[in-house]
Amino acid sequence: MKITMIGAGYVGLVSGVCFADFGHEVVCIDKDAGKIEALLAGRIPIFEPGLEQLVAENVKDGRLSFTTDLATSVSQSDVIFIAVGTPSRRGDGHADLSYVYDAAREIAAHVTGFTVIVTKSTVPVGTGDEVERIMRETNPDADIAVVSNPEFLREGAAIDDFKRPDRIVIGLNDERARGVMTEVYRPLYLNQSPLLFTTRRTSELIKYAGNAFLAMKITFINEMADLCEKVGANVQEVARGIGLDGRIGGKFLHAGPGYGGSCFPKDTLALVKTAQDHDSPVRLIETVVSVNDNRKRAMGRKVIAAAGGDVRGKKVAVLGLTFKPNTDDMRDSPAIAVIQALTDAGAIVTGYDPEGMDNAKHVIDGITYAGNPYQAAEGADALVIVTEWNEFRALNLDRLKTLMNTPILVDLRNIYQSGEVTKHGFTYTSIGRPE
Ligand code: NAD
Repeated sequence: MKITMIGAGYVGLVSGVCFADFGHEVVCIDKDAGKIEALLAGRIPIFEPGLEQLVAENVKDGRLSFTTDLATSVSQSDVIFIAVGTPSRRGDGHADLSYVYDAAREIAAHVTGFTVIVTKSTVPVGTGDEVERIMRETNPDADIAVVSNPEFLREGAAIDDFKRPDRIVIGLNDERARGVMTEVYRPLYLNQSPLLFTTRRTSELIKYAGNAFLAMKITFINEMADLCEKVGANVQEVARGIGLDGRIGGKFLHAGPGYGGSCFPKDTLALVKTAQDHDSPVRLIETVVSVNDNRKRAMGRKVIAAAGGDVRGKKVAVLGLTFKPNTDDMRDSPAIAVIQALTDAGAIVTGYDPEGMDNAKHVIDGITYAGNPYQAAEGADALVIVTEWNEFRALNLDRLKTLMNTPILVDLRNIYQSGEVTKHGFTYTSIGRPE
């Protein structure tokens, strides 16, 4: 199949290269000329494990290419994926669909022959109808079927998730697209990943319902963690105790500083807005959004309390800036709010992240950046782990203690056990576990 991928970001680039790896002929298009230039020069504009090698192999084999020229590729494609961003709209929290609609207009002007247009971006229910309307208005002769195919990959494990998905959801209202989409996903289908065909609107809602449910699960265990701290219980054991129940499941039950990232915050908010617009409010999710918003800054206060209640003029080292390990993505990272709370209280913050520091510099002002965890800890009055990168899991605590001014460790991801830290002379604070 000839596939065009519009948008070469985290989703577009990973999906594009994986489709190429399945044997399809894929052209990735991005408006950002710098991104395309980098890709053409063999540089990957994002950090995602395994991506560089997979891109290089597929470019070498001639199945994957990059361009800013949408017209040529679109006119030759059987299937066109829209994988552009759908951030929160400034002001009201609705999904900003302007990139999707712009892409739809540009595609419509250049399609030839029967073409399947697939929205891979996360879009509110009903967006497919509007994409179809825009395309028919732009080009009344276009022979198109507009399909919804939301993406469920996780940054940091994106290639594996794409190649071994739990399910592939395809929403269509035009039966002609069914065979084409089955062909696109044939290698996965043969690999026993279930293809779930449904209507376009249902498919669009599945994506939001899924993300909202996961965000709710995280928020649930975070509130249980707070309660554990008050009553002297251990949230990790609570999570295990409930997670072994097959009806609940053990995943997404890790207490922490609140969910962040490029999806959960904006998608929960967009679902809340969509539901309100349809006079069918999702109050559970409204609460999840507000609990999670409060939590991130509360984590800053937790650090301040652990450091004795006053951090003015004190040095705090923050390890982990990205919203989760194995990505360089800083979008809505809890570290942003934690650091803001600390600097508002007068702390002098040094941050370190294995991959996220270039992006962090665009969104976090007024801190210094270190080259490694030990450099960050020099002279620190407290050390905070915000993101559980592997390299923070076995820190040399004796070395840290000699470098720090005061040996206080605040572990917002529960990656250490209290005893193993305190025996090195540290004061240790974590989430929802007895001190
Ligand atoms: P991103 O910001 O990394 O990438 C989007 C890209 O689209 C950018 O490079 C941008 O320049 C490009 N673009 C915008 N308009 C364009 C146009 N008209 N023509 C060509 N290129 C254009 O975003 P992302 O993280 O890849 O997310 C894309 C979509 O996928 C969003 O809707 C998101 O919610 C969804 N999603 C993301 C993830 C994730 O983990 N990042 C997972 C599942 C779904």
